[in-house]
Amino acid sequence: PYDVLVVGGGPAGAASAIYAARKGIRTGVVAERFGGQVMDTMAIENFISVKETEGPKLVANLEQHVLDYDVDLVNTQRAKRLTKGDMIEVELESGAVLKSKSVILATGARWREMNVPGEKEYRGKGVAYCPHCDGPLFKGKKVAVIGGGNSGIEAAIDLAGIVEHVTVLEFGNTLRADEVLVRKAKSMKNITIIKEAMTTEVIGDGQRVIGLNYTDRATGDKHLVDVAGIFVQIGLIPNTEWLKDTLELSDRGEIVIDTKGQTSMPGVFAAGDVTTVPYKQIIIAMGAGATAALGAFDHLIRTSVP
Ligand code: FAD
Repeated sequence: PYDVLVVGGGPAGAASAIYAARKGIRTGVVAERFGGQVMDTMAIENFISVKETEGPKLVANLEQHVLDYDVDLVNTQRAKRLTKGDMIEVELESGAVLKSKSVILATGARWREMNVPGEKEYRGKGVAYCPHCDGPLFKGKKVAVIGGGNSGIEAAIDLAGIVEHVTVLEFGNTLRADEVLVRKAKSMKNITIIKEAMTTEVIGDGQRVIGLNYTDRATGDKHLVDVAGIFVQIGLIPNTEWLKDTLELSDRGEIVIDTKGQTSMPGVFAAGDVTTVPYKQIIIAMGAGATAALGAFDHLIRTSVP
């Protein structure tokens, strides 16, 4: 059995594994796809101390750093069940069962997509999901934000300070964002908010996004908006479907943790985008991974006999 078994191989999982292994305890990592969301990221400019890098490059460095230590890395395996007896058990889809004295859950999250033609094709070529990451790439240009909830309106206010103009498209007939955010957005001259707008297509020129089509749900009229960027802000879904009846989750399905990364199940810790931690970023996920590993180590030295 392991002392620490990490489920997930994104920045949070990698940081957990390194911090655990450096304590000289038996450490394993099981990941469906090592690297996680970072594998899907092109330009990264906010990983502090590295001015500019690319996702796959950062992942290669992460993997090398993890494998510098005595860590069992089990890639392309998906966990499907977590149970606790004498030991904590993680059952994989392959049927294998891994046992450990403590577990760190770092299964991350995924952005909800619009599922319209052109979205996948132009992902990273104008279609973006993270304003903190990609906002500056659209300096002086026109962009759209899809979604009028808190994250959509926050994104619009944030982007309005960088880009020429922001058009917010909300599907419903009211904005779901907090009143204070809506008021702020409405007071900004370069934000236009359109309600009852159903985005139907991302338009590109073969290289990059040049606009989008939407249908006015009230009148049925079709419109074209000319934009260089589209920020999709319709939700971030934590990868916790397999944990539903096992651990305390928030109403958004995120794993509830305390300041040491401890979940509601003793010996089980969690880190990164899968948790209730505010702000989902690489550097934040890594810090949280370190916290969870130190939390797990603290738990082990208090509970287990060597
Ligand atoms: P993830 O990166 O989501 O990793 C989750 C890991 O768990 C993966 O290895 C996955 O395969 C695995 N997994 C999931 N379910 C299971 C299971 N059941 N069993 C086993 N393994 C499982 N952040 C920045 O700071 N700067 C940026 O420039 C930036 N750009 C981004 C661009 C894009 C397109 C996207 C999508 C995100 C971007 N982010 C950026 C956000 C950043 O990638 C995430 O905050 C970060 O990757 C979260 O790390 P994580 O380890 O918590 O989760």
